[in-house]
Amino acid sequence: MRRFALGLLALGAAVLTACQDNVSPDSSKPTATPSFRKAPVGDPALLAKMERINTRLRARGLNVAVEAIEAYTIGQGRPSNRIHQTGLRWVPNDERRLAQGDDITYLVDQSDGATASGLSSAQTEGAMDAALATWEAHKALSKVAIVKRTDSGADPDIFDSFFGFGGAGNPFLADIVEAGWLPRAFFETVFGPGGGRGVIAFSVSFIFTDGNNNPTDINGDNYLDTALNEVYYNNTFGDPAADRAGNPWGIDIALPGIDVETVALHENGHSLGLGHFGPPPRALMNPVYNGILQIALASDAAGMSAVWSSWPNP
Ligand SMILES: [Zn+2]
Repeated sequence: MRRFALGLLALGAAVLTACQDNVSPDSSKPTATPSFRKAPVGDPALLAKMERINTRLRARGLNVAVEAIEAYTIGQGRPSNRIHQTGLRWVPNDERRLAQGDDITYLVDQSDGATASGLSSAQTEGAMDAALATWEAHKALSKVAIVKRTDSGADPDIFDSFFGFGGAGNPFLADIVEAGWLPRAFFETVFGPGGGRGVIAFSVSFIFTDGNNNPTDINGDNYLDTALNEVYYNNTFGDPAADRAGNPWGIDIALPGIDVETVALHENGHSLGLGHFGPPPRALMNPVYNGILQIALASDAAGMSAVWSSWPNP
């Protein structure tokens, strides 16, 4: 999160003028993009926060918007949160996100990598790299290379800043950012009462919007265009001073501990386009943590294959 990072985005403040939402479509021209209907689902309080963030993003002229938030929990599950009816996908070679060709890039923010449970930043980064390597090697992702970028020290994430945790970073240093371990209070603020105690980690996906604040579909695949994804991990687990001291983050740790690699594999399943499902069946993408699982199961693999089947061949 880097509290003292330069507020790059704040400098890019732009004023959006003429709102043309009410202009009738010109039927003589082909429709380049389908109309994407808002159909919010999830926790109404969180959806309202997402919309407020999007208003602030528009004021900065960033042309990105928060679209989906998925919470991975221990105990009671929480609903998926998304704003539009249509799903979202990465677009190969998308210049808006400074895409590295057909690759998907990720970055681990080393400034927030150590845990209150006693793991070092190097340990958690190793587990995250292992998780990304598992997806990279999976046959469902054979068409795409998942490439790591080095943490330069610049603040690589933005979602936390809207809740008063860290500055507004540069969101285009990598496609996927492992934003590290943040305080319980951050999770309580994002998810409301109980969020700090129950949410292990969450994924937030942003989409691109046009000058009229509508989602774009520049490659005509009938999906919203993913702009960036950030993953946050809850540092209350294993904090000796907290009521989750009995559920420490660890490396290859069994329940009641929480295995970093398992959670990273799940979270980056979201980063790569999967939602929650089940149980049943038992799957990596079940919404409630259920112990070590460092591979994708059948339904996870089927979902990933569906998402990536149309990606260009390398
Ligand atoms: Zn999840």
